[in-house]
Amino acid sequence: MSTEGLLAMRKIVIAIDGYSACGKSTTAKEVARILGYRYIDSGAMYRAVTLYFLDHLVSFTNPKEIDKALQDIKLTFVVNLKGVTEIFLNGINVEKAIRKMRISENVSQVSTIKVVREAMVALQRKMGKDKGIVMDGRDIGTVVFPEAELKVFLTADLMTRAFRRQKELLEKEDLVEIDTIVENLRSRDLIDSTRKESPLVKATDATEMDTTHVTIEEQVDEVVRMALSKMVVAGKLRG
Ligand code: C5P
Repeated sequence: MSTEGLLAMRKIVIAIDGYSACGKSTTAKEVARILGYRYIDSGAMYRAVTLYFLDHLVSFTNPKEIDKALQDIKLTFVVNLKGVTEIFLNGINVEKAIRKMRISENVSQVSTIKVVREAMVALQRKMGKDKGIVMDGRDIGTVVFPEAELKVFLTADLMTRAFRRQKELLEKEDLVEIDTIVENLRSRDLIDSTRKESPLVKATDATEMDTTHVTIEEQVDEVVRMALSKMVVAGKLRG
């Protein structure tokens, strides 16, 4: 791309939403790397809160305990030496701990809690205020950044998603039965899409991509292509 072309571009916000294990994080991470954008995994934030709640025996139904816990939780993202963003909970890298099944089995319950969502959304908006960000989750294009220039909604069939997740867990030396994973994805999808507070729905202006028969490379190429054209438009609009 020419210098003129690059100068004509402007930073945008890219929202990637969808069901569990559709390849949102893998896609978002790679798109961010290619564009030189910041990547934020909003699911990691809900997972880190869940880890804190479980480790500190915070009752999911006790508003006082929840408020106190939210005050005591400090979440930060740090880019590691490989250029990958990792989440820290009160100064400790919890990237590995939050991917365990005990977290996956509780995170959707924690994510239904209104004050938890309010706290996370406020943080997410703060991180995205200067644009140049790719954020993945469930409500990014609908609630967190309804004005995002590019919104992508990923889907894939359940078994494909379950096998992908199993492979990911195996790479982290965590062997989990396929039935357990299927059950977890099914139950999280149900809770996430039927909850009262910002349920998982496709934003009306999001582009839907079924990733069942698509490789990660193809997925990434397509999102980058869409992002570049939105960046040019944003450049022209903002002058
Ligand atoms: O993206 P990931 O599967 O790690 O997200 C874990 C859980 O966090 C989801 O199942 C959902 O309950 C919750 N979540 C959410 N809103 C987001 C991101 C994740 O409610 N923006």
